[in-house]
Amino acid sequence: MSRQISSLLAIAAVCVTLAPAPAFAQAPKKEPVDCSQVKCLALTFDDGPGQYAGTLLDTLKKYDAKATFFLEGQYAKSRPQFVKRMAAEGHELGNHSYKHPDFTKSSEATIKDEIQKTQDAVKAAAGVEPKLLRPPYGMTDVRVSEIAEQFDMPQILWTAGSKDWSLKNVDAIQKQTLAVAEPNGIILMHDWVKQTVDGMPALIKTLQNKGYHLVTVSDVIKDEKLEPGDAFPLPEGWEQ
Ligand SMILES: [Zn+2]
Repeated sequence: MSRQISSLLAIAAVCVTLAPAPAFAQAPKKEPVDCSQVKCLALTFDDGPGQYAGTLLDTLKKYDAKATFFLEGQYAKSRPQFVKRMAAEGHELGNHSYKHPDFTKSSEATIKDEIQKTQDAVKAAAGVEPKLLRPPYGMTDVRVSEIAEQFDMPQILWTAGSKDWSLKNVDAIQKQTLAVAEPNGIILMHDWVKQTVDGMPALIKTLQNKGYHLVTVSDVIKDEKLEPGDAFPLPEGWEQ
């Protein structure tokens, strides 16, 4: 390399170093993630807040990951401090009934009561009301859908499960979740499963290394234009 070229390179290097930092480097507020442009995945945690919710929230915060919590009203009532944290730290809150009955086998009055009491418990804890419903066991039908519509909420099921509630093993949960992760996927998990929460730092790191942005359900369903009462993804056998 000639001396002239190397000194030119040196000047170029200085120019790059001195170039003003891009505006977003200073902006405290992050651009919202556009899931039609980047790889997104929504981790969802059901039946909580579970007893390990605090540890899970610490992990999500550390890795700047967002999640969606489909809460049971009875636990939103008994562990309001976690519900408050979830909302304050940018996670999404969904309604998963008050005591987890199968809605397809419950009376209309029971279903409405289960949904309303959970809305009330979450609002009392966090000041916000869920806008998404996940019926217990993902069990729904025409009647449940009509009630969801009356509550102005779409029904959010899942594209795949982590099977954490039956695997109860950190490595197996991670392997299963990585096998079913896909862009704009919605993964079913549980924050009452200790191994799920224990394995979360490694799982999040691996997903982020694969290019996934961990976002809320509302982020990944944005382009679906769901109406109240709609179920997404459609349960097997349901027509568009
Ligand atoms: Zn559940």
